[in-house]
Amino acid sequence: MSRSKSHAIFARAKHLMPGGVNSPARAFGGVGGEPIVFERGEGAYLYDVDGNQYIDYIGSWGPMILGHLHPKVKEALHAAVDQGTSFGAPTERENKLAELIIEIMPSVEQVRLVNSGTEATMSAIRLARGFTGRDKIIKFAGNYHGHVDSLLVAAGSAAATLGVPNSPGVTAGTAQDTIVLPYNNADALQEAFERNKDLIAGVIFEPVVGNMGCVPPLPGYLQAMREICTNNGALMIMDEVMTGFRVAAGGAQQLYNVTPDLTTMGKIVGGGLPIGAYGGRADIMGHILPAGEVFQAGTLSGNPLATAAGIATLQTLKELNPYPELDQKTQTLEEGLLKAAQDANITLTTARVGSMLTPFFHDGPVRNWDAAAQCDTKRYGKFFWELIERGVYFPCSQYEALFVSIAHTDDDIAKTIDAAQEAFQKVR
Ligand code: PMP
Repeated sequence: MSRSKSHAIFARAKHLMPGGVNSPARAFGGVGGEPIVFERGEGAYLYDVDGNQYIDYIGSWGPMILGHLHPKVKEALHAAVDQGTSFGAPTERENKLAELIIEIMPSVEQVRLVNSGTEATMSAIRLARGFTGRDKIIKFAGNYHGHVDSLLVAAGSAAATLGVPNSPGVTAGTAQDTIVLPYNNADALQEAFERNKDLIAGVIFEPVVGNMGCVPPLPGYLQAMREICTNNGALMIMDEVMTGFRVAAGGAQQLYNVTPDLTTMGKIVGGGLPIGAYGGRADIMGHILPAGEVFQAGTLSGNPLATAAGIATLQTLKELNPYPELDQKTQTLEEGLLKAAQDANITLTTARVGSMLTPFFHDGPVRNWDAAAQCDTKRYGKFFWELIERGVYFPCSQYEALFVSIAHTDDDIAKTIDAAQEAFQKVR
């Protein structure tokens, strides 16, 4: 498989952008080697600039649940472009997207649209602090909530992959209001609240972690978190940027039947265009400017193109209800990977919730960052490249979940398992 054009473009990119990229996760730091430069996506496939085809399991890191270039999304975007791309003023599309979000996400009574998941989490914790009058925020090691200063402490995703979970540039003053705890440990959470009585504004968390690989919550963990937050007057901030509209229509809050106070969203809610959202209890959301006094704003927020793609995506998901089928397909992939690993005598553990899946090169269940950190990331990297050579594009880090879309056919899944079978043999 030649990637000479990719190589030439990336060589130039390294002079133009730091590390040659506009976001670190795509730099292939977790697998060694050079990123592939893409030209086109359609359905379940990506095509690189050298004309190679790959079955895509990154899906732009989550948004592309309908596959690339879904006809409904494409049509909605064309219609929106014809009317103008940004007004910085109210539009009816914002109502439509807000209505859909409120209808689909069980706990969301009011919502504010922003431009990324990072903006959503940044704004949600500001709101939690403004609402409660408290400063401290709890987060969990290996959870990633975007590049918000105060949340870049023990962060997952590229921060973990590239070895900077605590980024330089985050001041000690900022980090001191962030309490980091191990995930999936309700006792540790209870103790943190006891040590910090009346100081904690909120707990932000991934209800199914995707950013240290896929790590599901242990049974009862989210319920315990809900109870502890309520008992201590702190807000439960469920970061559903990845899980929202993914693990179930109504996200993890629907799947696990837990009601957070605030929810952050992104990725699927914009159907592949830049968007984020945060929402929740109306009495809390009412504190945001201009209804209340907590400041938050955005020139491009509620952008006509982003809302058009978001509406088309959520409406299509509503019509299709693809979740049982996604679950089935991803389970087939999971079982195929496990069997292929076993046949090759490779130690592998998988974790999956719906269409989010991670094959961990690890010998036991991965429940928190301490366990995730013990994975054989070198072997994962080799496995990744063997798959690439066979036209399969898995996440370029052990610490990212893979995503299956409605565009992946049974044949794609079967081909992927075949490729994995050969790849596992190669990385023995
Ligand atoms: N929260 C979670 C759970 C995420 O997975 C991400 C991005 N991977 C973010 C927040 C940040 O979103 P964005 O990259 O759109 O800023």
